[in-house]
Amino acid sequence: MPPLLRVHDLKTYYFGFRGSRVVKAVDGISFSLEAGATFGLVGESGCGKTTTCHSIVRLLPATARIVGGRVELEGEDLMEKSQGEMRAIRGRVIATILQDPMASLDPLFSIYDQVAEPAYYHRSLRGQRLRQRVRELLTSVRIPSPEIRMKEFPHQMSGGMRQRIVGAIAQAGGPKIIIADEPTTNLDVTIQLQYLNLLKDLQRASGAALIFVTHNLGIVAKMCDKVAVMYAGKIVEMQSVRGLFYHPKHPYTRALLDSMPKLGTKEPLCAIPGHPPDPASLPTGCSFHPRCSHAMERCRSEEPWEQRLDDGGTTKCWLSIQEAERE
Ligand code: SF4
Repeated sequence: MPPLLRVHDLKTYYFGFRGSRVVKAVDGISFSLEAGATFGLVGESGCGKTTTCHSIVRLLPATARIVGGRVELEGEDLMEKSQGEMRAIRGRVIATILQDPMASLDPLFSIYDQVAEPAYYHRSLRGQRLRQRVRELLTSVRIPSPEIRMKEFPHQMSGGMRQRIVGAIAQAGGPKIIIADEPTTNLDVTIQLQYLNLLKDLQRASGAALIFVTHNLGIVAKMCDKVAVMYAGKIVEMQSVRGLFYHPKHPYTRALLDSMPKLGTKEPLCAIPGHPPDPASLPTGCSFHPRCSHAMERCRSEEPWEQRLDDGGTTKCWLSIQEAERE
């Protein structure tokens, strides 16, 4: 049986005017997602997480192009689907929750219209059955008085309610995969945890798999089974969440973990020195070498290959490769 979703050597680049500037936003990443699992994509802003998600559903801006690799949904290559076939897949099989709910909600349509639309198109519900389904979906995301609220418009909702309604819309088509791209970024800290718990409950109830994009390792620990750490368009480490937190292999992963605040200690936070590289002019060799305290001569000139770990994970670092060669 093929996995539910398999991304293989995916490359998505942005092109400037007449190819003047090429930004390798996603550069040869591979991972797979099993039914019902939660996969985390983590990394600093601009590392390619969001472009990865948009590539999966083939919703890229005009300046971006998928230049290589495959995205397989239950064994079928999504790159070979027509735009019409992709429209049928979006919402019915793969749904997305974006970080800004106002970018997903149309201010001119009522909540009822927006929640009903995917159920109408993808599940062919009509009349009272459609109304009943909208009521159930709003109840499932804990919108109080759903019968009244469904007649209202997005501007009449709080930020937390809008994001919950986006969650209801994502569920409406009964998808097998939900891609949540930093869904808590615009929420108050006090309601972030409530929203994460709600997402988990919805996932358990529906059995959908979840791709969770975040820069917050605390959220990864709470939500995910497996996690990929991205840096400069590449996956530099992929492990089970337990493996990543207890046995991180890549210096960038370790630096991310060291930069997290820890309860009960007064130690200062360890910031990662320097800045993420300009994606249009990446450093030679390992892209992390200008910021890595372990960088060696080889790191500056040769890019490390992907090394398989004993537990099925992967990492890309000369240190780990040398360690394995010595054993
Ligand atoms: Fe650091 Fe070298 Fe490993 Fe890159 S390959 S993370 S520079 S040790």
